[in-house]
Amino acid sequence: MATYVIGFPRIGEQRELKKALEAYWSGKISQDELKSTASELIKRHLTYQKNAGIDMISVNDFSFYDNMLDMTVILNAIPEKYKDIENCMDRYFAMARGDDTHKAMEMTKWFNTNYHYIVPELNENMDFKPNTSKIKEELKEAKELGIKPKINLIGPITYVRLSKVEGNANKIIEKLLPIYKEIINEFKDYIIQMDEPYFVTNPTKDDLKLLEKVYNELGTLAKIYVATYFEHSNEANKVLAKTSIKGMFLDFVAGSENKIKTLIEAGKEIGIGIVNGRNVWVNDIEKSTEFIKGLTETIDNEKIHIGSSCSLLHVPYTLKYETKMDEDIKSWISYALEKLDEIRVINKLVKNEQLNEIDKEILEENKEAIATRKTSKKIHDTIVQDRVSNLTDKDKHRNMPFEERIKLQHENLKYPILPTTTIGSFPQTPELRKLRRDYKNGLISEEDYKNQIKKMIKDLVKFQEEIELDVLVHGEFERNDMVEYFGEQLQGVAFSQNGWVQSYGSRCVKPPLIFGDISRPKDMTVEWITYAQSLTEKLMKGMLTGPVTMLNWSFVRDDQPKKDTAFQMALAIRDEVEALEAAGIKVIQVDEAALREGYPLRNEKRKEYEDWAITAFRITTSSVKPETQIHTHMCYSEFSDIMDAIEDMDADVISIENARSDNSLLKIFKERGYKGEIGPGVYDIHSPRIPSKEEIIDQINAILEVLPKEKVWINPDCGLKTRKWEEVKPSLKNMVDAAKEVRAKL
Ligand code: GLN
Ligand code: ZN
Repeated sequence: MATYVIGFPRIGEQRELKKALEAYWSGKISQDELKSTASELIKRHLTYQKNAGIDMISVNDFSFYDNMLDMTVILNAIPEKYKDIENCMDRYFAMARGDDTHKAMEMTKWFNTNYHYIVPELNENMDFKPNTSKIKEELKEAKELGIKPKINLIGPITYVRLSKVEGNANKIIEKLLPIYKEIINEFKDYIIQMDEPYFVTNPTKDDLKLLEKVYNELGTLAKIYVATYFEHSNEANKVLAKTSIKGMFLDFVAGSENKIKTLIEAGKEIGIGIVNGRNVWVNDIEKSTEFIKGLTETIDNEKIHIGSSCSLLHVPYTLKYETKMDEDIKSWISYALEKLDEIRVINKLVKNEQLNEIDKEILEENKEAIATRKTSKKIHDTIVQDRVSNLTDKDKHRNMPFEERIKLQHENLKYPILPTTTIGSFPQTPELRKLRRDYKNGLISEEDYKNQIKKMIKDLVKFQEEIELDVLVHGEFERNDMVEYFGEQLQGVAFSQNGWVQSYGSRCVKPPLIFGDISRPKDMTVEWITYAQSLTEKLMKGMLTGPVTMLNWSFVRDDQPKKDTAFQMALAIRDEVEALEAAGIKVIQVDEAALREGYPLRNEKRKEYEDWAITAFRITTSSVKPETQIHTHMCYSEFSDIMDAIEDMDADVISIENARSDNSLLKIFKERGYKGEIGPGVYDIHSPRIPSKEEIIDQINAILEVLPKEKVWINPDCGLKTRKWEEVKPSLKNMVDAAKEVRAKL
């Protein structure tokens, strides 16, 4: 029985790698200096794991940017367009983030995490060959520390299935197989971890056939453990049992229905990934121990290992720097380093080993944390719980069908055909960020702060009136981030000082911690929005973040079903919706930017997610009067597989990204007979380019070929906070002028 972790974070506990990368990119440090920071971090991280008593420690889990991109280099799957760059490091960063003459490769989400990987671009004619220098360098560091590590590789099927492929993907896998063989042969004395998480996403029969073939061939070359995570993949387990691999590392946090019988019968070793690699709550050490002891009654101890459910990349480093956090909350969470301790202690307990003083203390604290979490007043609020249990069907439906209430809204709100609006935020300038920072740090008074924000709101209202937008917004100047802003004002949500998690490259995020029952002690947005409304006769749209997005961008408590947390969040935001309505706001937008990314990876779990996620949105938005108009916004353009869910949200107006020029997205809305009104983004806010009036007219006309004019709103495709005023002002003016011109001809 050994301990393992699937992978360790690399950005550094003080974000050292982030800082070094950014210094290197801006020419402040040399390549050698960057490399020496990397080498220090690798050594430090290996040492942490060694000192924590982890037996199987990974190498090749370090990365200057991303592990998929590293794999692209290891396999020499370099796209032709980067081959003119001679220096390896320059080429690597050109692929990752572009340079003066090269566009970056695409980036996308790693399964349903908030980590993004660089998407390989593959074709059959590529000159694949092994390039193992990165692995060797990390091995050298490990050797110097007396560590015999396992080597992490992304398996060939996951690698190719997550790529953009030109030609036949299976042929590419076939071509890559000998390259993988060469690599594995080079390191055949080491344990090799092959990550194949692709298989948790309902693999096809073909995928499974390929899996069997690939691992029968690779399995004989070295001690190979296949890792799947974020879900279970019983299909893959069954197939891999038949191959020559040594064992599997499985996720026992996400996939409690993990079936391991066939693997055991085939004599395979099992890694029980029981310590959660993607959430921060302490493991219930006693419960985990019991669970694994139960397994050991029928399985030989030697065949079982204890580890993390997935790479610890998805949690922050260490609680050491959380000096300001509430002591109780702090006792309930563990970051990567504390998780290493949990793994060690569980392992000792399962083996009935004597605990030393340190481990005894860890166990005692753990028991205490588990116990206080069950009863703490900071977590449990009966008023909130009662509200959720008293929810009835009425709370989940508006009291008038869309077809009728939209008529009332038109009579009441009196907006023209092709109404123009924006998604909410306006430019966040350095001065604005400084203003908020100064206020937070107590350098300016609340009065001063509010006056300055109000001045910005006033200027923005004036601008919107000048260009004659129809539905105005207040600009979201008071918000640093659409989730953080609300999280900071809600009971049951906490923030860390140093809980950074890598999102992509050098970019890190610090997700809120939803630790307890959620409530809203006081108004969150009413003052700003009613102030904005007081300045104009036009409609002022209230802006809120939806419950599902709040959850999907946070660490969510694991001591109750997600559904309950979502409904609590929904009620808290509904309180704000009602307060806005009571204050005279007639149009309210509830953003669900992250609804899509919360979808489970396994098809059979989708329905359950949709049920609670869509219901949560409806709880938030259903208590308003029929004539109050509810908008929602989503910033992606993939809707075909979630149309039923979108319909079910029952929003009056939805604004969406509409990136593809052929309006194929809108055709889906049309074919489905989507009943609500739709604002397909008429220009792309992700680019600094100012769209001309003429091109927006063309875009509107193209939209009108697909959608009936009565249903169409005109807006940009997302919030404007990342843009500059010089870009935003002319762009919006052109947008409104374009709408007017098309309107005049209708
Ligand atoms: N209302 C938000 C904004 O405009 C929406 C952001 C988003 O869609 N991600 O910034
Ligand atoms: Zn958006």
